[in-house]
Order: sequence, then structure tokens, then C-alpha cells
Amino acid sequence: MKKSPKKIKLASIEHGLHKVYKDTYQLLNESFGFEIITDITEGRGRPEQLDLLEELADTVSQTALCGLGKTAPNPVLTTLRYFRPEYEAHVKEKKCPAGVCKALIIYSIDPDKCNGCGVCLRECVYGAITGEKKQAHVIDAQLCQKCGICRSECKFDAIQVV
Ligand code: SF4
Ligand code: SF4
Repeated sequence: MKKSPKKIKLASIEHGLHKVYKDTYQLLNESFGFEIITDITEGRGRPEQLDLLEELADTVSQTALCGLGKTAPNPVLTTLRYFRPEYEAHVKEKKCPAGVCKALIIYSIDPDKCNGCGVCLRECVYGAITGEKKQAHVIDAQLCQKCGICRSECKFDAIQVV
């Protein structure tokens, strides 16, 4: 039996609403996941958020309507699976073992390695480094923007990230 135009219209509205619902749900999950990752990288993460993040990423991957949506959570799922101790260090100890998350690291100069060559002082455009020639230099944590330039310029491996 042929479907009436009214029924066809209703079915297409229903299909449209279903898609909007799923897209919105996916979008909410993704943005919520993004919020959790931001919290973790900025030092506000909590241990229980790791399971929540995994659950969200799994849900998005299973319910997304397009291929792109299905694979979008893969980096989160893979890193959670293989680098969980890194995530745990962020939420439990508020540390970034890779020295990447700016909110969780501090640049400092090892006085035993620093020979006072002055290269870092000249390179720091934020004026965060002080020190006399041939004396150990010091980084002012308040002024330091954690750009990493001093560390890459120091030939004596005297600048560390903790
Ligand atoms: S570049 Fe390295 S050795 Fe030279 S002053 Fe800076 S920290 Fe010290
Ligand atoms: S990390 Fe950047 S801002 Fe901080 S002391 Fe080094 S050069 Fe200056």
C-alpha cells in the first residue's frame, strides 16, 4: 500500500528530530569532554573525572552518526588506555610529567649547572630572568610565561621544568 504524503512528511520530520537529538547529544558529550580535559590540563581535574571522560568518549564513539564523529574520541580513548599514569599524575599530584601543561609546571635554573653566561637573560622577552655575569641566574615565576625559549637556548642544560 502506498504511504500518504502526510505520513511521509511526518516520518521525515521524525527522522529530522531524531538526527537533531543525536547531534545535540553528541555535541553536548563532546563539549563536556573538552571541559573535563581543560580542567585536567589546568590543574582542576579530579580522579573521578577520568572514568567519566572514558565513558563520554565511548558513548560518542558508539552513537555518532558520521565517521568523523565516531573517530573523534579515539585520541582520548587511546591515551587513557596507554598513558593512564600520566592522566593520574595530572589529577592526583597536579603534575605534568611531560612538562607540557603550563598550569602545572615551573621553570627554574639549577644554580649548580648555571655558569652565568647570560644567554637566557637576553632571550627572555618577558624580563623574567635576572642575574649577574658569571653568577647563577634566577627565574621569577610571577613573570615567567613558560614559553620554553630559555631552556632551548641554554647550552648547559641548566634550566629545568618541574
Ligand atoms: S643560559 Fe643557562 S648557563 Fe647561561 S645564564 Fe642562563 S641558565 Fe645559566
Ligand atoms: S620560559 Fe620563557 S618566559 Fe619563562 S623564563 Fe624562560 S624565556 Fe622567560
